Amino acid sequence: MVNILEQLVELQKIDDKIKTIDNLLVSLPEEIKAHSMDMDKAKEEFATFQKEIEAKKKSRLQKEKEVEDKNAAVAKAKTKLHEIKTNQEYTAALKEIENLTAAVGLLEDEQLELMEEVDSSASKQEELKKKVTEEEKAFSKIKSENDARIAEVKSEKDALIASRNDIYARVDNSYAKKYDSLLKSRAGIAVSELKEDICTVCNTTVRPQMIVEINTGSAIHTCPSCSRFLYSPRLFQTAS
Ligand SMILES: [Zn+2]
Repeated sequence: MVNILEQLVELQKIDDKIKTIDNLLVSLPEEIKAHSMDMDKAKEEFATFQKEIEAKKKSRLQKEKEVEDKNAAVAKAKTKLHEIKTNQEYTAALKEIENLTAAVGLLEDEQLELMEEVDSSASKQEELKKKVTEEEKAFSKIKSENDARIAEVKSEKDALIASRNDIYARVDNSYAKKYDSLLKSRAGIAVSELKEDICTVCNTTVRPQMIVEINTGSAIHTCPSCSRFLYSPRLFQTAS
């Protein structure tokens, strides 16, 4: 009886370790993914900002062209002024020149504003670029560290599974099956230590007769409340 319980406790220790590794096999790739997303976000922000700058540069050039066209139109209108015969036409031509000149002024203001925006964006652009470099570094660091750790825990898990199979094969079949079903139905914990008169997992008080039998190893009992195998660690010390 003592031997069976000892094996079950050993199985539980191994299963605890496997559970920890399984959690790592979820969290380590998640951490890599999170860094990858941070990196992508930084790259996207940088690219978006660059696109905005390019659009401003393009718009500035367009306005430059418009200014040229309008200035040409003003020059042309001016040369034609002396050909005009009536006062009415002359006034209209002057009005047109005035309108064109006003439009040129407005375009030049807009052009200047765009130029200033492009110039002042240099530091923000640099900052965003730096952020990309930082995120790339952080990603590459975490990727190589976590990949190495993943490989390490995978081989640890293989070794644990091997020793689990080894022990499992030696456990009396009915107890092994019960252990497995408890492991599934009881959140991965199939055995519980009895401390004084209490099941340490669910805190239920166990009746005295059962305590005696558990402490002497004369019978295998399960907790009356959580159904887990109960064991007394003192028993293993005296038995071994
Ligand atoms: Zn219990």
